[in-house]
Amino acid sequence: MTFADLRADLTDKLPDLRGRLAANAPLSDITWFRVGGPAQLLFTPKDEADLAYFFKHCPDDLPVTIIGLGSNLLVRDGGIPGVVIRLGRGFGEISVEEGNRLRAGSAVPDVKLARAAADAGIAGLAFYRGIPGGVGGALRMNGGAHGRETCEVLVEARAMDRAGNIHTLNIDDMKYGYRHCGAPADYIFTEALFQGEAGERDQILAEMEKIADYREQAQPVKARTGGSTFKNPPGNSAWKLIDAAGCRGFQIGGAKVSEKHCNFLINEGGASGAELEELGETIRARVKDTSGIELEWEIRRLGVAANGKIPER
Ligand SMILES: Cc1cc2nc3c(=O)[nH]c(=O)nc-3n(C[C@H](O)[C@H](O)[C@H](O)COP(=O)(O)OP(=O)(O)OC[C@H]3O[C@@H](n4cnc5c(N)ncnc54)[C@H](O)[C@@H]3O)c2cc1C
Repeated sequence: MTFADLRADLTDKLPDLRGRLAANAPLSDITWFRVGGPAQLLFTPKDEADLAYFFKHCPDDLPVTIIGLGSNLLVRDGGIPGVVIRLGRGFGEISVEEGNRLRAGSAVPDVKLARAAADAGIAGLAFYRGIPGGVGGALRMNGGAHGRETCEVLVEARAMDRAGNIHTLNIDDMKYGYRHCGAPADYIFTEALFQGEAGERDQILAEMEKIADYREQAQPVKARTGGSTFKNPPGNSAWKLIDAAGCRGFQIGGAKVSEKHCNFLINEGGASGAELEELGETIRARVKDTSGIELEWEIRRLGVAANGKIPER
């Protein structure tokens, strides 16, 4: 499926735009699952001022979707209508600040954040070594691992609203819960300030290595996956419920439940977005039948199916 090309019209309306606009840009090249249709328009702003210029001049009714490194996304086969914004190099700075703090742009990969903290002798951020997303995704998802979450290390986040205005949000403003951020849904995070504590570089690097080794052994980290598919229900583990429902290794087309970690879905090669979503919904139904518990998607599903519609579930 291809969308109408919006580029010419927008280029006329935004003559001073400095970032890149690509029409019908394939998102399967970006997402970890390697599935999904195109972005009607993919916009990579040059910097924050460029993003603000875009918002101040683009049509109000243009649908806007922000994505990060695509490690928590299931993009449907028909793609994403409107503009998809992906922050690039202009949002990739990291700087060390006094008091064991790190400031990082939203496009910085979490792994790089962990490494920069280690190099600066700042402990407490090593858990980011295990999360394959970027800072923007960590802020929106309250990304966490190995007993720590973003909400425990964040001082403040900088965000832009749909009108191009900048907001600084403290930890209360972020309204964090488990893999949940209650900040306004249209806010695009552009930067974050993190708090760590004094530590020894070598010790932190050793901790990061342990995290990497654990991941390698416990999760299909080299597969085409979106990480944990469902949130853990209160007092329970999604993987245990999925296992008890007999879904480990279950397959629909090219979409498979990982044998190694059954809360992970895998694109075995030729899976479509529809097959992965169908597999997820089948798991939810079976878990509901066997345990009475309704699993909630942790992976964010975006866009429309091949028929141009959002599936009803
Ligand atoms: C192998 C594997 C292991 C994983 N392990 C973990 C884990 O241990 N812990 C964990 O928490 N997650 C884990 N994940 C999931 C994923 O890495 C995290 O959710 C990550 O924080 C997503 O970041 P991203 O940049 O890839 O965001 P994306 O997947 O691109 O987007 C995720 C959400 O964030 C929003 N978003 C992205 N950037 C911005 C921005 N700048 N402003 C506002 N909203 C934004 C998107 O709109 C979307 O709703 C894993 C994934 C994989 C593939």
